[in-house]
Amino acid sequence: MSDNSYVLVINCGSSSLKFSLIAPLTGEAIIDGLAERLMTDSAEITFKHYLITVSQEDTKEKEVEQFILKTPFDHKTAIEQLVETLTRKQLIDKISAIGHRVVHGGEQYSQPTLITPEVKNTITELSKLAPLHNPANLIGIEAAQHAFINLPQVAIFDTAFHQTMPEKAYMYALPYSLYQQNSVRKYGFHGTSHYFVSQMAAKKINKPIVQCNFISAHLGNGCSVTAVKNGESVDSSMGFTPLEGVMMGTRSGSIDPGIIFYLVEQLNYTLDEVNQLLNKKSGLLGLSQLSNDCRTLEQAAIESGDSDKSRLAKLALTVFCYQIAKSIASFSASLTSLDALIFTGGIGENSSFIREQIITHLSLLNFQLDPTLNQSTKLGKSGNICCDNSRLCLIIPTNEEWVIAEQAFSHIQQLKQENPYVS
Ligand code: ADP
Repeated sequence: MSDNSYVLVINCGSSSLKFSLIAPLTGEAIIDGLAERLMTDSAEITFKHYLITVSQEDTKEKEVEQFILKTPFDHKTAIEQLVETLTRKQLIDKISAIGHRVVHGGEQYSQPTLITPEVKNTITELSKLAPLHNPANLIGIEAAQHAFINLPQVAIFDTAFHQTMPEKAYMYALPYSLYQQNSVRKYGFHGTSHYFVSQMAAKKINKPIVQCNFISAHLGNGCSVTAVKNGESVDSSMGFTPLEGVMMGTRSGSIDPGIIFYLVEQLNYTLDEVNQLLNKKSGLLGLSQLSNDCRTLEQAAIESGDSDKSRLAKLALTVFCYQIAKSIASFSASLTSLDALIFTGGIGENSSFIREQIITHLSLLNFQLDPTLNQSTKLGKSGNICCDNSRLCLIIPTNEEWVIAEQAFSHIQQLKQENPYVS
């Protein structure tokens, strides 16, 4: 691989822009960071530059230079500052492609896709299915195209991995015309993460991915569970939107749709208020009345004795774990064998408390926790946390940026092979 084969990965939200300059074959980041609170007076960008030093014992160590710039205003100025920084650090010429995380690819995209004007139009059309996400992703694409005129830009879709789901998994029991004419079906999200941890788990158990069957639980601020059969997604808990499925940090997950009629007709909620309630004020935050952050709730559950604060924190965590365990158990219907359960995401990778509660509900599926392994496997460590005679439960730290970099890079290489005149 030549020295200019790094991929700049961009994940653009409505008021934030995450970036990472990554070596696609190893996943090593040279520089990454986050522009946040964009479009407000407190907008800022944090950069982390990883300087590799070789110590006396010839071991590689990473020194991090961190700095914050207070002058971005919007996504465009944030990208301009990123370009300035990459130029100053003499990294700008090392970039061979830009990889964009795009949330919704509908049924149109199941593979990494070079961003052309037609592709941008389709992503814009798909905004009706993902109004909170695709418009923000497009802002990032526009800003990057403006700043990196000569570089190929590739979209990696969060829904793509789930396009292998069979009809029986993605159809809702609604009039068929809503699917045919209005694209109402299950899409599934967090695809890049479920794909990555499945690949890593296959390597861990030393089995070709096409023979692997997993249930993968991505537990972060957003949470989803996916059944992976022979390396492909066959069902997932998130649906038409990321609101369906298990409860999350601030999202309710699945509830009786009748509650929405009750809120609107009897309690006079507007549709916008219902939307805010289900997406921003429910989940761990709504039930606990305290926080969407799992660490805060675990602390409150231990510290506050018999207080209301402690009771509601415990309740939120208990419902959370039960819902996830039920979702995992339900996906045994999608598989004929199971090599491992996988936990990933901030909670899945780090919370031994949550993992223990979930696994306690899964004894019928022959999961038996090893408490010592469960305690020690966190903070970037991977491995099995169950006993010898149990099914495997693997902790695998996710790395969506690496997938985006690797897939964008491979896609460009493939296009160049097909057409050597592509620059
Ligand atoms: P996002 O979906 O925004 O990427 P993350 O995957 O970073 O979110 O997950 C955030 C969640 O992970 C938060 O609820 C946070 O409390 C939880 N988390 C992170 N570290 C720990 C830890 N050591 N123990 C328990 N929960 C943790």
